[in-house]
Amino acid sequence: MKKVRVRFAPSPTGPLHLGSIRTALYNFLFAKKNKGKFILRIEDTDRSRYKSGAENYIIKSLKWCGLTVDEGPAMKGNYGPYRQSERYEIYKKYIKYLLANDFAYYAFEKKKKKRNYNRKKLYLNISNEKTFKKIINGIVFVIRFKIPKFFGLKIKDFLRGKIIINSLDEKIILKSDGTPTYHLANVIDDHLMKISHVIKGEEWLSSFPINICLYKYFYWITPIFLHLPLILNPLGQGKISKRKILKFPIFPLGWKDKKTSQKYKGYRESGYFPEAFLNMLVFLGWNPGGTKEIFSLKNLISIFQIEDINISSAKFNFKKAEWFNCKYFKKKTYKEILFLLKKELKKRNIFYIKIKNIFFLKIINFLIKKCSFINEIINQTIYFFKSPDLNEKFFFKKNIKRFHSLIWIFLNEKKFNILNIKTLIQKLDLDQKRYSIMQLLRISLVGSLKGLDLFFIISIIGKKESLKRIIKFINYCL
Ligand code: GLU
Repeated sequence: MKKVRVRFAPSPTGPLHLGSIRTALYNFLFAKKNKGKFILRIEDTDRSRYKSGAENYIIKSLKWCGLTVDEGPAMKGNYGPYRQSERYEIYKKYIKYLLANDFAYYAFEKKKKKRNYNRKKLYLNISNEKTFKKIINGIVFVIRFKIPKFFGLKIKDFLRGKIIINSLDEKIILKSDGTPTYHLANVIDDHLMKISHVIKGEEWLSSFPINICLYKYFYWITPIFLHLPLILNPLGQGKISKRKILKFPIFPLGWKDKKTSQKYKGYRESGYFPEAFLNMLVFLGWNPGGTKEIFSLKNLISIFQIEDINISSAKFNFKKAEWFNCKYFKKKTYKEILFLLKKELKKRNIFYIKIKNIFFLKIINFLIKKCSFINEIINQTIYFFKSPDLNEKFFFKKNIKRFHSLIWIFLNEKKFNILNIKTLIQKLDLDQKRYSIMQLLRISLVGSLKGLDLFFIISIIGKKESLKRIIKFINYCL
């Protein structure tokens, strides 16, 4: 096989959709499996849809997923620049060639009769002399590619086999602002960057015949083309779209839309491990056969075969994404979870009271079976890390004085462990009020009537912190 060089070619028009990450993943796996190169090319010729920050987002997302790029913007590589907006000079040469060989033509905007036009009326193909005059006179033009004279163009997709094309549109290849369109730049770059396999989404199937025509016009060898199946929404009706976004993340990382100020959570912010995210994605359109479902990126590289990519669309299943995360969560060591837990606490600006690692481990031990996310552990045990914020719901008058007496008992206790605290409280003469006093104790320490065993909580947060919370609570109620 020819030296494998594949590319991921996103347009920086916003956050990456999970389908794009799947495209990147399949390209990456195929490259690594065949000791080839994985190239990142930024297709930023459509300036009207360009979003600042999107390129950075793409790079960060690939990094988070662990899909290391071999060549790309701001990296060394022999086939750069890897940003299309920096390649305009390169494209010019090819446009000239197409025009000179009658494979493309100037199409001018017809000034009059603007209304009631169709595309053919709006743009005209005219002779050279006239063309020259029009250009001199500053009449707006685009360059269109010419439909080949031959009919029944044969194109071949790796998954779909041969497709015969009998009609084509004369698409614009150079826009009126002088920038090339996707159709042209994409083909030129794939050729110049020596791309061996073009693996992209099914949504690009419609421009596939134009791609092939251009290869023919340039007398270039066509790479192998493979169009990936669509990812459908959980009900299997249509592509997963932004409309579904509030129910589950569809972007790898969070994104803030500057225009609408709408914030979108990504998989990262929702507490997913990148390994779980990739493992979920790889199965949306590929299957190695068998029942094994958990594969690390390294495993995937060794078993990935493009022949195993499905032709039919895949249905996205959010529950399955959670399932994968849960599997990866359970595989983490205590040390790893501890590290992530502390990192997340720091991120939330929670400077945990001095909890010893051994206690942290106890907390993890309690919850590991029930949770699939670090966030879940923190949300369920937030009271270990910060004292509850007081508000009206904390206002209790009844039995507060009696509850007050607990302070002295706590103060006098030297050995502050579960057993001692438990016997201490059990010994207290609280007659009928025991239940209500215990409730107040829980509310002052935890902030609600929920949570783990109270004596366990007290023993972990310690004497000082317990007393601090109880006093704060009593002061609020008195
Ligand atoms: N720039 C196209 C996109 O935004 C790339 C399509 C392709 O891979 O050729 O997805």
